[in-house]
Formats: sequence, structure tokens, C-alpha cells
Amino acid sequence: MSTVDITPHDLPERRSVFTPELLDRCISCGFCLPACPTYALTGVETSSPRGRINLMRALETGVLPDDDPTVNEESSFCLGCRACEPVCPAGVQYGALLEEWRDHLWNGRRRPWNVKPLLWAVDSPSRVRAMGIVRRHAGRSREAPGPVNLMLGCFERVLYPRVSRDARKLAPELAAPSAQGCCGALHAHNGELERGRELARDLGAALPGTIVTTSGGCGAHLAGVLGAARVQQFPQWWLAREPPADGATADGAAVADGAGAGTPAARRLRIGLQDSCHLRNGLGVWREPRELIARIGEYVELPSAAACCGAAGSYSVVRPKDSARVLDPHLDEIAAADLDVIVVVNAGCYRQLQQGVKRRGLRTRVVHIAELLAGER
Ligand code: SF4
Ligand code: SF4
Repeated sequence: MSTVDITPHDLPERRSVFTPELLDRCISCGFCLPACPTYALTGVETSSPRGRINLMRALETGVLPDDDPTVNEESSFCLGCRACEPVCPAGVQYGALLEEWRDHLWNGRRRPWNVKPLLWAVDSPSRVRAMGIVRRHAGRSREAPGPVNLMLGCFERVLYPRVSRDARKLAPELAAPSAQGCCGALHAHNGELERGRELARDLGAALPGTIVTTSGGCGAHLAGVLGAARVQQFPQWWLAREPPADGATADGAAVADGAGAGTPAARRLRIGLQDSCHLRNGLGVWREPRELIARIGEYVELPSAAACCGAAGSYSVVRPKDSARVLDPHLDEIAAADLDVIVVVNAGCYRQLQQGVKRRGLRTRVVHIAELLAGER
């Protein structure tokens, strides 16, 4: 289709697919284009935030039908990384628009087939618990919630159970009842917006008080539904935490193995970071993990540290080739910097980088920030 600029004034007829205040905010300035990974890959306007908002407006007015191929392709090609939000002078909440877009388009037969089993797996707390039964994560079945609770995550408790164990090793005051379900982010990002919100509210009821998460994507979704005051990301919470009464330092590395800042070591580790998109772009948390890493070793800022690694929730499953294209420059940079360790703050990024590093045969280890602080490196 040809690209046309559609302004809010061109929207006399609305189909109520999108919230008007969200859709009307874009002023088509184009400041977001350089920040968009899919625009960087293609140079095509319709694969940019501004181009996609124009497609949404065309859908809203009925200029384009639901089964328009470009509308469908772009709803799926977008990573949902929200890198377009912090650079937008008009405050467009692109992530919320994308959720509404997919909620409309992906309800039913247009939902990518490979997302359906993922949604089914995390849709009920009993299934989530069953998934984690075979792995020794930090959750305890009969443990009651406390004032501060650790969210175990669905896939994280299965794929990377050491993350919650290490978070708890560092901060034993975190309660971790295993009777907790999914946060609903996967649903909200894949066409089941109301179910995603419902799951977040259920999790909020199961974990009253403050919820500490070790996964940026889950944390941003939970904060969006429950309010930012209820949710803390592990690095953020760890930095703000009062030092324990026993006099131990709040620096987890020193607690863990005495290898923190100031400790003589044969060679300081060269450590990079892969930001979590939703943690950085949605919650504005990016300084904290860098500060913590710098206590452990030599922090190396990679040029693409803030850019999406291509994991993007279910993206690596739905669009594996595009996901690998997005990942490639990250792997180039990790190799060029000859990192000892690349740190992640989200389970999806963990898997994406671990697979990429292995495929390339790089020597760099991928670890979660909680594992790094606990001395697992
Ligand atoms: S920067 Fe914001 S207002 Fe400008 S085109 Fe992008 S989304 Fe629209
Ligand atoms: S969410 Fe990411 S991929 Fe999608 S339009 Fe925004 S910057 Fe581009």
C-alpha cells in the first residue's frame, strides 16, 4: 500500500479499535524513526512507529480492512520494544497502542499459531506451578506472602530457576510463595489484553505489598496494571534496600564472595549489559544495573546495549529470522569487546543471548544481574 499521512482531523468515523486519546497524540514528526530497530532494518516507512500509527489510523477509520496484508504484517513485525516512546516529544504511548492493535487483530484466526501454546501454558496458576515443579526455584509451596514478595515468573522459573534462588540468597527477607501465576504480559502483548490485565490483578492479589521482579517485561506490565508503586525491579530494589541489620554490606557481590569493588583480583572482569526494553523504555530503569555491575568489574557500555536484542517476548518464536537479524549486531559487539560476561535483566533476553553466544562460539558468559551479584559468574 502507499503511505499516506492521516491526522486526527481525518478521523470523522471511528471503529473504536483504539482509545482516541492514544491514537490522536502522534504529530507525525518522525523523531522516533531513528530509534526503531525494524525501520533500521528496512528503511521502510510502514515499518516505523509513525508508519504503523498511520496504519492504525487507517484501520480505525475503515480506510484499510482488518485483513489488509500490510496491516497484519506490521502488527507482527513490530518488536513491541517501545524504543519509540522515550524519544517522542508528544508522549505517544506506542506500547499501549500496539496492545490495542493486536487485541483487535489477533483475537481469533489471525493470532500467530505458535503463540497459542505459550498462552495456554501460562493461562492458569496450576499450569504455571506444574511447569516449575521439576526445577528447584526459590518458591516454597506453603510460604505465606510477606510485605515484599519475589515474583517467580513463568518461563524464568522453568528455564532459569537459579535467578530466583540467587535473588533470595542475596535477600532472604523476600517471600516467594509458589502459589503465584503468570503476570499476564504475554497475553497483553499477544492479543488478549483484558485477560492479561486480569492475570496481573490476580497476581497482585496473591502477592500483596511490594512485588519485586527479576524480569523487565513482567515488571513493566505489572506496573502498568497495578501501579508503579507496587512493583520494583530487582536491581532498583536492591540498590534502595536498607543494609541488613547484621552489618553486612548492601553490595551483594561482597556478601556473596568478597569479590566486589575494592577487592584485589587478578583481573577485573569485563562486563557488558543488555538492557530490557520494557524496563528501560517503559519504567525508565537503566542506571541501576550499570551501577551494580560497576561494583563487580569493569563495566563496558556496548553501542547497542539499550536496543532490543530481538527476544521481545514471543517475537523470537513468532519471527525467528527477524529476531536473529535484530540480534546479530549485538553479538558482533559482544565479540568485538571480548566481554567476559554479558548481563541480562529479563528472562527472554537471557535465552536469546545464550543461544546467540553459543551459536557464534563466543567465550562470553550470559548471566542475570541477580546471579552476578550472588557471585555466579
Ligand atoms: S516521535 Fe511521536 S509524535 Fe513523532 S512521529 Fe513518532 S510517535 Fe508520532
Ligand atoms: S515498538 Fe520498537 S519496533 Fe515497534 S515501532 Fe516502536 S521502536 Fe519500532
